[in-house]
Amino acid sequence: MVKPFASSADTEEKTETLEVLADGVYALTAEGDPNVGAIEGEDFIVAIEARATPAAARDWLAKLREHTDKPVRYLVLTHYHAVRVLGASAFEAQEIIMHETSRKLVEERGLQDWDSEFGRMPRLFKEPDEIPGLTRPTLSFEDNMRIELGGDRGHLELKFCGRGHTAGDIAVWYPKQKVLFAGDLVEAEAALYTGDAFHMDWSTGTLDQVKAFGAEYLIGGRGAVARGQAEVNAAIEQTREFLLGMREHVEAVHKRGGTLKEAFEATHKALEPKFGAWPIFEHCLPFNVQRLWDEYDGIDWPRIWTMERDREVWAQLQD
Ligand SMILES: [Zn+2]
Repeated sequence: MVKPFASSADTEEKTETLEVLADGVYALTAEGDPNVGAIEGEDFIVAIEARATPAAARDWLAKLREHTDKPVRYLVLTHYHAVRVLGASAFEAQEIIMHETSRKLVEERGLQDWDSEFGRMPRLFKEPDEIPGLTRPTLSFEDNMRIELGGDRGHLELKFCGRGHTAGDIAVWYPKQKVLFAGDLVEAEAALYTGDAFHMDWSTGTLDQVKAFGAEYLIGGRGAVARGQAEVNAAIEQTREFLLGMREHVEAVHKRGGTLKEAFEATHKALEPKFGAWPIFEHCLPFNVQRLWDEYDGIDWPRIWTMERDREVWAQLQD
């Protein structure tokens, strides 16, 4: 059976749920589509993630505007991926914040990533012609950054937890309410995308740092909000299990001198029973296995995905 490329056949709109998790803390989840969020300062908003296009971002902002009309001062982008950042212009934010490495990744591969993600997930790109160009940060940092929210609202801590889903992911931590926006470092019952990832770092020290926040609410990149430490830790450990499962099976085939295709088939077989029904599992796995194979080949810096390379890897592994 020929599987349709990536998420190209996924055309059905998802149901969106906006939840107010605590005073001034908003999370919009969407049945496995990319999540977004916002935190209110005394007289401004900090928005987290921008969606794939300005039109998609405006849909989110319209829902947020039912709760608050404060202007967006900061737009925090947890990493450089197109479906997270290209809607940025709709926020009219004073500052757009990314990790310093994400700033470099936008310059290095932003255009190719835009093409690649558009091809893989066309449904997320609502009115794509409106995208004004690449989204670049106005502020960036290496280790952490603090945003004072004003009044008695406390502060946000933006933190780099180590290499993971990409080389430059930011976690957004609101200590006052123990809320963590983890970006794509954690998924809640949605498949991981690891095509630009550092599997060894992510599955060990990086997830340990994410866990160390001790969050009561965790909003991952996709999937439902995790509530309470048990659910939060379960989401983190399921993410780790997915990564360790991939590592085990890809490494075994690589070590015995097998082929990429064999590594893909062994990993698919091992992970499918537990993770196969999660959103974007079939879409992600070929790209994931290719990247992990590259890591075992000693390629530290992820190769750039292009539309052509996407199709080649897909044809080799999924068809
Ligand atoms: Zn991502």
